[in-house]
Amino acid sequence: MTDLLTRGEYEALAKALQLPQNAFIDGSFRPALSGKRFTSTNPATAAVLAEVAACGPEDVDLAVAKAREAFDDGRWSRLAPGARKQVLLRLTRLMERNRHELSVLESLDSGKPIYDCETVDIPETIHCLKWHAELIDKIYDQVAPSSDDHLALVVREPVGVVGLVLPWNFPLLMLAWKIGPALAAGCSVVVKPAAETSLTALRLAEMAAEAGLPAGVLNIVTGSGVEVGEPLGRHPDVDMVSFTGSTATGRRFLHYSADSNLKEVVLELGGKNPCIVLDDAEDLDAVAAHVVQGAFWNMGENCSAASRLIVQSGVKDRLLAKVREHAREWNIGDPLDPSVRIGALVSQSHFEKVASYLKAGGEVLMGGKTHHGTHVEPTIIAVPGNDHKLAQEEIFGPVLTVIEVTSFDEAIRIANDTPYGLAASIFTANGKRALRGARMLRAGTVTVNSFGEGDIATPFGGYKQSGFGGRDNSIHAHDQYTQLKTIWLDLSDNADTAID
Ligand code: NAP
Ligand code: MG
Repeated sequence: MTDLLTRGEYEALAKALQLPQNAFIDGSFRPALSGKRFTSTNPATAAVLAEVAACGPEDVDLAVAKAREAFDDGRWSRLAPGARKQVLLRLTRLMERNRHELSVLESLDSGKPIYDCETVDIPETIHCLKWHAELIDKIYDQVAPSSDDHLALVVREPVGVVGLVLPWNFPLLMLAWKIGPALAAGCSVVVKPAAETSLTALRLAEMAAEAGLPAGVLNIVTGSGVEVGEPLGRHPDVDMVSFTGSTATGRRFLHYSADSNLKEVVLELGGKNPCIVLDDAEDLDAVAAHVVQGAFWNMGENCSAASRLIVQSGVKDRLLAKVREHAREWNIGDPLDPSVRIGALVSQSHFEKVASYLKAGGEVLMGGKTHHGTHVEPTIIAVPGNDHKLAQEEIFGPVLTVIEVTSFDEAIRIANDTPYGLAASIFTANGKRALRGARMLRAGTVTVNSFGEGDIATPFGGYKQSGFGGRDNSIHAHDQYTQLKTIWLDLSDNADTAID
């Protein structure tokens, strides 16, 4: 269990923080080549945190060139797996030592409750990096079946220079989901963090250098999507891009790739995830706790948030009473107060978008108000059908939409009636129905009688328009950052023997 500090101690840490301001390229901090900067603010207070380097295409070119140099000379890509592992484990130890500082930085930059940063974001980030570090020297290549005259090796090689474009909702954790397997595989990386939340990525890069990661292997290019994300997506010398963010932006990366060098593209995108509760669900108290966690954790700024509650008529009123009871425990407040569960939304513009949904109709069953700063109350709204705006659009805020159904079949049909397919959950005491439902739900992760995203050992990604090209987490994540090479050796006496 994480040792939480007091609010006063967190405030003192916040005051003492040295905030990074510059991009991290080729092993050192540097301003944007243009000299431009953008202002990074704390969304809970609107206080200015830092003036961060606003990089552009010329900084992307520099970072990619340095990443390529590092990749080609093998300073990381050809290091023995055990040596790469040691560097990454040293990084995780440094992060552990600085975990309170990282938590405060993440909270200040994103508005997240310090409680979440301390109990989820930072420990999960460390766990993820450790898991992939430990994997490096446990993956074997293959020998394919062939005749006695031949030897056919199937080997994995790092894909090369990788671009990573990140969202703001789990800034460090999403970075870890991608650099964990990418660095383990031996790739060189150019990261574009979301402009809203660039600070922890910069701090992590500094720690990685301290841990012994060679210069040029991990570069952080700060700036906007248009000035940094697009040039990275279109760069002719980037071999692969992994992106997490909205479906609309993700789609652009396929165009960037098609119009440039056909780089590999992996996309983790949005969701409008159904949570089905059937009449025979057991222990409604526990179900309600899962529903509330699914809908309101991280202020609903979660691509796998259970944002559509699809509930059967017989249990609806009893369940909603319990959901309201549990939701009342999720208090709004200062993110640096460790007793607070609902912090600020990430920015003024995102707050305005979420707030607009509070006036989109339906019957407000709970909440519906906004508070000082960029806070939104946990809100529950019943809608007449799944075609309602609140049931179709990803809100990415603490708003749970309720849809009543009369049967299992109707529940599954409505659950699947969305262009998204990231996650889904189903609550029922009937084992057969649970498994049948899990198979019928078109989503990358289905949880039964619980809400969750699995863990580092299980793949995470979306069906339909929630994802493309691969999975984060688990050993399968490794596949994204490697490519297969066949090495065919002719062992016959006659060197002219043809390969068959
Ligand atoms: P976003 O607007 O798509 O931004 C994601 C990243 O793309 C940011 O770094 C952004 O830069 C950059 N970007 C924006 N426009 C770009 C362009 N034209 N070309 C290249 N890059 C561009 O998404 P967001 O608002 O940060 O995050 C919320 C969304 O992410 C939600 O829809 C959520 O569902 C999804 N999400 C999905 C997952 C998953 O694993 N499936 C996880 C987390 C979030 P700037 O913002 O800095 O300009
Ligand atoms: Mg910020």
